[in-house]
Amino acid sequence: MKIGFPYMGNIHISLAPMMRILGAEVVVPPPPNREVLELGVRLAPEAMCIPFKLTLGNMVRSLDMGADTLVYTTGSWSCRYGYYGRLQAQILKDLGFKFRLLELRHDHLPAIVHEGIRLNSGSWTRTIVRAGRAFRIGWHKSYAVEKAEFYFRQTMPFATDSRNCRRLLKDILIEIEQAQSPTELTSIRKGLKKRFAEVPRNGTDWAPCVKLVGESFCTIEPFINFDIIRRLGEIGVLVDPFLTAHRWLGFHGFRIGGDELKRVKAVSSRYWRDCVGGEDQNSLGHLIIAAQKGYDGVIHIHPFGCMPGTVVQPALAKASRDFDIPYLSLSLDEHTSETGLLTRIEAFVSLLKRRRTHRPKKIDTQGYYFTIA
Ligand code: SF4
Repeated sequence: MKIGFPYMGNIHISLAPMMRILGAEVVVPPPPNREVLELGVRLAPEAMCIPFKLTLGNMVRSLDMGADTLVYTTGSWSCRYGYYGRLQAQILKDLGFKFRLLELRHDHLPAIVHEGIRLNSGSWTRTIVRAGRAFRIGWHKSYAVEKAEFYFRQTMPFATDSRNCRRLLKDILIEIEQAQSPTELTSIRKGLKKRFAEVPRNGTDWAPCVKLVGESFCTIEPFINFDIIRRLGEIGVLVDPFLTAHRWLGFHGFRIGGDELKRVKAVSSRYWRDCVGGEDQNSLGHLIIAAQKGYDGVIHIHPFGCMPGTVVQPALAKASRDFDIPYLSLSLDEHTSETGLLTRIEAFVSLLKRRRTHRPKKIDTQGYYFTIA
C-alpha cells in the first residue's frame, strides 16, 4: 500500500514515519507551491475554499508519484471540510486516477483497524506492537517540531539576522525527520532552548505580541498564509498561533484539550453560542483570552468564501472593541496579492507599536494544553 495524504505545515514529519512503522509505504509530495495551487484551482469547483484547491493539487502530485491509497480525515459536521475527502476522491476518479480512499473518521474505526491488520499480514500481535511504536515515535516527533517552532517564534523578533534563526529551524527539522528513536528525539528537544539562545540578539528586550487565529489550514500552512509567522518575526513581532500542526493533531485527531475548549466556550458564549466550523468559536475565544492576557493585537486569517470564517467577523469586531484589542482580518484565496497582504500587516504592526505606551507585562505565550515529559 502506497499512501498519500494532504500536506499541512510540518505535519508530514510525524505522520509519515507513523504510517511507515505501521507497514505502509508513504508518498510525500513536494511542498505546496504555485504550480500545485494552480493545478488544484483548475480542477476544483470555483467556489471551493483555497485549502480544498491546494490539497487537491497535492493529491494529484501524490498519485503522479505512485500513491495508490489516499488518506483523509472526514466526518459529518458543520462545515464542508467533513466531505472534502469524498469530493476530492470523486474529482480524481473522474479524471481517471485509480486509487483507494481511506477515510479516517471515528465511525470507521473498525475498518481502519482492519487496514492496520491487513498491513501486518493478519497478525494482531504485530499490529498492536507496531501501532504502539508508531504512536510513540509520531508523538515525540510532533512534540519536538512543536517545541522547535515555539523557540523559533520566540527568537525571531530579537535576532540580529533572522536568517540565522531560519537556518537553525531548518537544520533542526531535518534532524527531527531523521531521528529514529524517542531517546534521540528527547535529546534534540531538550537541546532546543540552548541552541536558539545562541542565536545573536539585536539588543531589543520587547516585541509586540500578536495572537494568530482563524481557519486551521490557513493558520498552519505557510504557503497559503505567505509565511505570516516568519514575516511577522522579521519585522520584530512575537507571534503566537492558537493552532499548530501538533495542536491540530491533539485537538482534532485525538480530542485532547477539553479544558481549553471549555474555557474558549465560556469566554466567547456572550458572542457566539454554537460552533459552525472554521475555528469560529476558537478564534473568538482566543481573541478574548489574548486581550485578557495583555497581547497587543490579534490577526484573524481565513479563506475567502469560508462561510464560518465570514459570519464570525462581526462578532470578532465587537469583541475586539469590547476588550480593547486591535484585530486585523485577512481573507485569502488564489488571487490574494502578497504585496497587498504584507502592506496591511505592516500597517497593523505599526499601529500596535504606536499604541504601546509602556513596557508590557510579561505575556504567557506558552499556552500548551498537553505536554509529555
Ligand atoms: S472551515 Fe471554511 S475553509 Fe475550512 S473547509 Fe470549512 S468552509 Fe472551507
